[in-house]
Amino acid sequence: MTTDFTPFLAWLDDQYEEMLAKTIALAETNSGSLNADGVNRVREMLTEYCQVLEGEIEVLPVAPYQNLNANGEMESFPLGDALRIRKRPEAPLQIFFCGHMDTVFAKDSSFQQVRWLDEETLNGPGVADLKGGIMVMLKALEALERSPWADKIGWEILFNPDEEIGSPGSAPLIADAAKRVNLGMIYEPCFPDGNFAGERKGSGNFCVMVRGKAAHAGREHHLGRNAVRAMCDFVSELDDLNGQRPGVTINPGLIEGGGAVNIVPDLCIHRFNIRLVDPADEAWCLGQIDELLAKINARDGIGIELFGKFGRKPKVLSAANTKLFELARECGQSLGMDLQWLPTGGCCDGNNLAAAGIPNIDTLGVQGGKIHSSDEYLKVKSLNERAKLSALILFKLATSENLNWLEEN
Ligand SMILES: [Zn+2]
Repeated sequence: MTTDFTPFLAWLDDQYEEMLAKTIALAETNSGSLNADGVNRVREMLTEYCQVLEGEIEVLPVAPYQNLNANGEMESFPLGDALRIRKRPEAPLQIFFCGHMDTVFAKDSSFQQVRWLDEETLNGPGVADLKGGIMVMLKALEALERSPWADKIGWEILFNPDEEIGSPGSAPLIADAAKRVNLGMIYEPCFPDGNFAGERKGSGNFCVMVRGKAAHAGREHHLGRNAVRAMCDFVSELDDLNGQRPGVTINPGLIEGGGAVNIVPDLCIHRFNIRLVDPADEAWCLGQIDELLAKINARDGIGIELFGKFGRKPKVLSAANTKLFELARECGQSLGMDLQWLPTGGCCDGNNLAAAGIPNIDTLGVQGGKIHSSDEYLKVKSLNERAKLSALILFKLATSENLNWLEEN
């Protein structure tokens, strides 16, 4: 068997125009996380783009997104369906590929079109996060399928509809895939300089609701129980937890409550985010919050309730994960790229996969930046550069004599 990868990598250079055209078509199809119709349109486009891979295609509905609104009512939003494509589930090495279809740009956002900033730089919604990455993934897999080493690797792709809201609906699908695979390749954009994200913090989004008692501020102020005041006390004590535990940060992000100033407010909602480095600190945070809640709940006429959870565990690098990064760095070197991996406070589906014990690289996507803003850009030459990187990783894995290191903790 030959191990000359060159012609199979060179083929990817000829794919540039197609990758670019499809990235633009995907970016100009709005797929804000709560735009289920738009996400489903992207899913249909991807179903067509994937035909050439000849895998088994499944459409998988996910649970609706639940969110407590400013009136204290739980609202439910339907999400687009996930798309799963599997091939060769009997092959000795099983790889999970993942990329999200949704973006942070809602249907009514003014940012819907791409435009060129210069010859190398394309500005557009989701061009880097993550639609360019989807094309990198698909072309790398196509390169594998065209190679003589394809039969060594079985794969499954998950295109999920809800990563930008924390993957609440698709998390069970990721956990399910983790039972079948040896490693993960996820196509979030890399850092602007090309480097990978290594360790990632864990994250939880929470919401607290205080209910008090309304009363006229002039005639019956003494009968009111002020929900805004109780929330202020909760928030200031919550914020005081910052600095008490290394690696734990708490960010009170939004407070909504009250109305006319002549009425004692009976409802207040507060949303906050917690990030942490050590998985064990989840319990510490929840314990501290419980104590604060109990104090507020003990007040006459005041009730406080907590919603939400830690949706993403910290991504801690196992020995296998470090070796996977080393393999990627080697592949990068032979393609003329100098790649490192750096810790980040951000989270993605790589957190979920690592929590399930699966080594993964989650920033195999394109080079770009300013993501989640209308300045989001893609360095277009990274489309085929990064597809070559992924393809070479796959070729090396497929032709490797020993993959026992993938099991190292
Ligand atoms: Zn993303």
